[in-house]
Amino acid sequence: MLSKLPSNLPPHLGLKFIKIYANSGDLRRARQLFDTISEPDLRTWTVIIDAYTKHGFPKEAVSLYAELQKKNIQPDKLLLLSVAKACAASSDLYKAKEINEDAIKFGFGPDLILGNALIDMYGKCRYSEGAKRVFARLPVKDVISWTSIAACYMNCGLPGEAVRAFHEMGLNGVRPNPVTLSSILPACSELKDLSSGRQIHGFIIRNEVGDNVFVNSALVNMYASCLSIKKAQLVFETMSQRDIVSWNAIITAHFLNGECENALCLFQQMITEGIKLDGASWNAVIGGCMQNGRTKEALQMLSQMQVLGFRPNQITITTLLPACTSLESLRGGKEIHGYAFRHWFFEDLTATTALVLTYAKCGDLELAHRLFNMMPRRDAVAWSTMISAHSMHGNGDEALSLFHKMLNSRIKPNAMTFTAVLSGCSHSRLVDEALSIFHSMSRDHLIEPDAEHYSCMVDVFSRAGRLEEAYDFIKNMPVQPSASAWGALLGACRVYKNVDLGRLAAKQLLQIEPKNPGNYVILSNILVTAKLWGEASETRKLMRDRGVKKIPGSSWVQVRNKVYTFVAGDKKIDQSDEIDRFLDELGQKMRVAGYMPNTEFVLQDVDQEEKEDLLCNHSEKLAVAFGILNLNGASSIRVFKNLRICGDCHSAIKFIAKIVGVQIIVRDSLRFHHFKDGFCSCRDFW
Ligand code: ZN
Ligand code: ZN
Repeated sequence: MLSKLPSNLPPHLGLKFIKIYANSGDLRRARQLFDTISEPDLRTWTVIIDAYTKHGFPKEAVSLYAELQKKNIQPDKLLLLSVAKACAASSDLYKAKEINEDAIKFGFGPDLILGNALIDMYGKCRYSEGAKRVFARLPVKDVISWTSIAACYMNCGLPGEAVRAFHEMGLNGVRPNPVTLSSILPACSELKDLSSGRQIHGFIIRNEVGDNVFVNSALVNMYASCLSIKKAQLVFETMSQRDIVSWNAIITAHFLNGECENALCLFQQMITEGIKLDGASWNAVIGGCMQNGRTKEALQMLSQMQVLGFRPNQITITTLLPACTSLESLRGGKEIHGYAFRHWFFEDLTATTALVLTYAKCGDLELAHRLFNMMPRRDAVAWSTMISAHSMHGNGDEALSLFHKMLNSRIKPNAMTFTAVLSGCSHSRLVDEALSIFHSMSRDHLIEPDAEHYSCMVDVFSRAGRLEEAYDFIKNMPVQPSASAWGALLGACRVYKNVDLGRLAAKQLLQIEPKNPGNYVILSNILVTAKLWGEASETRKLMRDRGVKKIPGSSWVQVRNKVYTFVAGDKKIDQSDEIDRFLDELGQKMRVAGYMPNTEFVLQDVDQEEKEDLLCNHSEKLAVAFGILNLNGASSIRVFKNLRICGDCHSAIKFIAKIVGVQIIVRDSLRFHHFKDGFCSCRDFW
């Protein structure tokens, strides 16, 4: 190789040497040489930009393009292609939009190859709107265009759109290839769309797509996610070639289906057959054990894994911990925490962050915060996690102040940070603060708000009772409003008794997620409160006709390391008479203290007395009463509920906390409520 750089090389020789350096990975020399060329031609620009991207420096590649723009040099198709790849690799949406504009400006709008690259680029930047526009502009679309747009939807968390694109592709007579199939099947998995998944399977059989191991693994996964375990097993068994991905998929399948024994058997088979395990195999089996409540086996696997020479990585821990976020496994979480302390890391940022999240989700915000303070180093994810922990516990002010601390310590916030702090603002009615943060996103931090951020803002306005503004916000969103945006509005319409907007939001929601019982129930609640009995029963009829079942409310509470579950009107549990008596007594004291049962929350059309009786039997009240009867000197109890806490129970528990003198923490489906001294941390706003 050249030891000294020649100066004043003729351009064609310069290009040759740049290529040699670039291919050998010596980017520094390639760049030095590039800089000596006074007027590099387009090919030379392309080679150096490509080289940066290929060797993992896409940001450099993008900034080189900026230099080219400054010099007013007109790019050609190949050059634009390499910059598009660089933008994709660096997920630089801001620059991506510029490339797209340049492509149109210089007449490449209808170009198929460049168009496909732009769709892929937007997909990697998670900006489906951009990809959609490029896609629509292409006069001819090939299988790569369709595959890229479907992959883009997947990346943007829109699996429904991906499946729709796939069906449309078929209608347009374009045949999918194995890449299309293995990227569309995960969409079916995510949607649990067995019927589309089966159609694709049928297509694969009819067209003899053959023994593509990626496609087959994706099929196993799809059937597993749709809980069609027999089919998953069948596909797995007929595979002539099985890679580790398909083994992991079938094991996960059995775990998902609650068949722990089969899963563990298969895992043992893998070991005896000498299949080369990977980290994902261990994570699958450990995660599966945890999800099925088998903490002990999970911990055994953790040690076996190490005996066999595998180091648990942060994925192991992050796989383990989300499974600990219910009361049942808080203890499991603590065991793993102890294990982590004794055996390996505490330097590991990701794992510690996962623990912070676990504690927060288990209701122990204090422990979460202590752990966060102990971290020797904190990245954007760690900060965002702590901010989000405060948000879910309703401490908007604390979330906001942490956010500013984060900015002051010069940690760059990411999209997740903004979601975390905005949702904190929404839970504490900090509308102005939220607005100013939202506007700062693209202006100061170059982060384009995505659907989730827009939903947060809708939530901010909704919770503050500014329903019209929330609706305006939805109407003016540049992205498709998601179910969570409409859901926020609908929930607020219940609290603020706005029938018109409630109907409107519900109409959208019933289209987007027709199978979610919550939407029907809230709409029906709104209508009942407005005494529109007829319309309310129509809503409930629609729900029945569509075969949507209401999820029964249930609550659970931990007493002496055992978890007790309660459903409304539960008479079967131990101490049921005692609970009734206790609630009766408490009810009288509460009435003296000023509590008024709020019968709005009973949806049966019965007379007053019976309504009050039904209120007494809500699962969260039963769980709270049981917790108090079995306090054994503890100063707080934690109750988890699968649905939103009802308004009457909320006000009752405030009184109970005060009369009994305990702290009661209730986690409902949306957030945490800390009840103390007659007040709740949510300030009656949830
Ligand atoms: Zn209730
Ligand atoms: Zn509350």
